[in-house]
Amino acid sequence: MKNNACKMYSCILGAVLLNFSISVSYSQNSTADSVFMKRAEEIQDKIITFDTHNDSALKMNNQNSGSAMPRSQVSFGMMEEGGLDGAFFAIYVKQGNRGDDSTKIAERYANGQLGKFRQYVDGSPEASVVTSIREIIKNKKEGRISVVLALENGYPFGKDINEVEKFYRLGVRAVTLCHNSNNDICDSSLDTVAEHHGLSEFGCKVVKEMNRLGMIIDLSHASTETLFDVLNVSALPVIASHSGVYNIKNHPRNLKDHEIKAIAAKGGLIQVATGRFFLSEKPKEEVTVKDLADHIDYVKNLVGIEHVGLGTDFDGGGGVVGLENASKMKNLTVELLKRGYTYRELELFWGGNLLRLLKIHFK
Ligand SMILES: [Zn+2]
Repeated sequence: MKNNACKMYSCILGAVLLNFSISVSYSQNSTADSVFMKRAEEIQDKIITFDTHNDSALKMNNQNSGSAMPRSQVSFGMMEEGGLDGAFFAIYVKQGNRGDDSTKIAERYANGQLGKFRQYVDGSPEASVVTSIREIIKNKKEGRISVVLALENGYPFGKDINEVEKFYRLGVRAVTLCHNSNNDICDSSLDTVAEHHGLSEFGCKVVKEMNRLGMIIDLSHASTETLFDVLNVSALPVIASHSGVYNIKNHPRNLKDHEIKAIAAKGGLIQVATGRFFLSEKPKEEVTVKDLADHIDYVKNLVGIEHVGLGTDFDGGGGVVGLENASKMKNLTVELLKRGYTYRELELFWGGNLLRLLKIHFK
């Protein structure tokens, strides 16, 4: 029914070291492991490596204000240590009431946090906000971190299509359409009610406007109906910036095989999240980089290495034993090397696929 509505509106465009024995088992404690680590370092030095989702901007904003919040899992220094060249830093906006006043408050909040974070990055010699491939490559050469500004939840748009371009002008290049509840754009995977049965009429307009501007549409948190509506409406490939595989862990936030195949068929990317709830039923202290690699393997085997990457969700629930923060990224490369991943496969996984998608979007 919703699809019909969409068509009617001419939307057819198609850590903590929790357990000593486990952490020891994950440390580089043999000659073979140190050989893998050396290789991982060499590879990450050459290729461009990206994480497509963290919630660290707000944490960094608060820390810079002197708040006593727990330490962030991400800093530019930790990224450098982990051989991570860039990340999508999302401003997360909690879903609230959808009246005009509440939406305005959300818009002002997102605006303020974006400004604060942007100021912090602009004042940091080790990082810069990027909106072009040229800047990403230049940063890699000069050893600087690339920051892509993102918005997690399109709630601050309210029902005003002009807000999309306003956020674009603030530097935002990726938007997660919704969070854990429905909003005026679309239905969420974690809401109990199918309100729009996918995208709303306004949501169709948002997708088209994001296409026009070259903003990346992020389907993590979206319901299945939303996902297929977006794939129908969007002229450009999309990403799921931080999601796991439903067939391995039955979590409503994870992607079913037909969803993974549909995103890939449109040229999009499934960026596997590191939150343990998305990866495994096992207790916290037993979920490791190996579980994360199982999800990556699954997507690779289902739709090809050209459609899989990483979205850590650090500071938003992400992190497993062996990958507790951004300084530990090389442990994932080690695990993938052990599984036989080639240089070319690692190059695509870590950033090659994303650069292909950014080339289509960035002007
Ligand atoms: Zn999220």
